[in-house]
Amino acid sequence: MTTHSAELIVDSSKIISNISHLKSLLTSDSKFMFIVKSNAYGHNLKEVVNNLENYVDAFGVVRMDEAILVREISKKPILLMQGIYTDHEITAASANNIQIVIHNMNQFELIDNKKSQLGLWIKVNTGMNRLGLSKQELKYVYEKDFIKSDSVLMTHMACADNPNDPMNQIQIKNFEEAFDITERKLQRSICNSACLINFPELSYDWVRSGIAAYGGEFRDLKLETAMTFRAPIISLRTIKEGERVGYGGRKKAEKDMKIAIVYAGYADGIPQTTVDGTKVMINDEYAKVFGRVSMDLVSIDVTNIKKVSENDLVTFWSEHLPINEFSDKNGLISYELMTRISSRVNIKVI
Ligand SMILES: *Cc1c(COP(=O)(O)O)cnc(C)c1O
Repeated sequence: MTTHSAELIVDSSKIISNISHLKSLLTSDSKFMFIVKSNAYGHNLKEVVNNLENYVDAFGVVRMDEAILVREISKKPILLMQGIYTDHEITAASANNIQIVIHNMNQFELIDNKKSQLGLWIKVNTGMNRLGLSKQELKYVYEKDFIKSDSVLMTHMACADNPNDPMNQIQIKNFEEAFDITERKLQRSICNSACLINFPELSYDWVRSGIAAYGGEFRDLKLETAMTFRAPIISLRTIKEGERVGYGGRKKAEKDMKIAIVYAGYADGIPQTTVDGTKVMINDEYAKVFGRVSMDLVSIDVTNIKKVSENDLVTFWSEHLPINEFSDKNGLISYELMTRISSRVNIKVI
């Protein structure tokens, strides 16, 4: 570590074991596309791809610069998951052998229909109403022969994290109808992480998994948080009963207390809205956030921590303190915590 700073340590072996667990849930010999959009969910795209290359079948991203960066490291298939928007992107996709998602009719025109040599994933809207062709549009392009036989028919599930939501069955049925329209000939891909865990029978030809591979969101599985986010204590102080801490004096001491001031704030990726009582770890003991998070600092109640000194590290999440604890307590999702860690945090990938 070069300067005193918050730090992020990414343990690739955790991602590898998470992926191996996820693969064990598959009911068919589906291929595993590892989703590495948004800088590998904040885990460092380049190093994660380097370390995971041999464990996955393909990589999924949403920006061309990330696709090209992955291509420089790996020969595996790469999918640009939200499609292309400019001629420049089409040229870059062709030049780098990057497959693209087509989710609306304009994109078919942009790629000049079947003249294109690009690998295509055709996204259909099955009920999420975000991206994807309607069944009518799918029928039209299929009959016009715009879809090549090696294409993948895909959709995205809106509620797969809640298996009882009726939306799941509606989407499954609509996807079946879309598959019929294409004469049941294309490859298929439905599952993100939640779908793969709750509906493994929908794994088909490709699963596209991000968050579970990084150990986010799912509590009851053998999935471990692959990143450790921590920062050093730069000041320790005692305060007297009745004294207040931080901006707005949000927390007031009910008794004499010991407070640790930690060198990480919302500019590093600790949400400004973090609530009092959010659990952190210091030297294998739990402590709690006490007072409002500021740009560079967080205050922690360490009154009951036996051994604590300046420079000790405070962990916000790690394999021992799952990121879901932090996100649940704060009404956030682990995806957001992972992707908001800022560039001033020192990162090390092992
Ligand atoms: C991000 C993304 C995924 C991965 O979702 P997770 O919930 O992280 O597994 C899969 N498919 C598409 C189209 C995505 O954009």
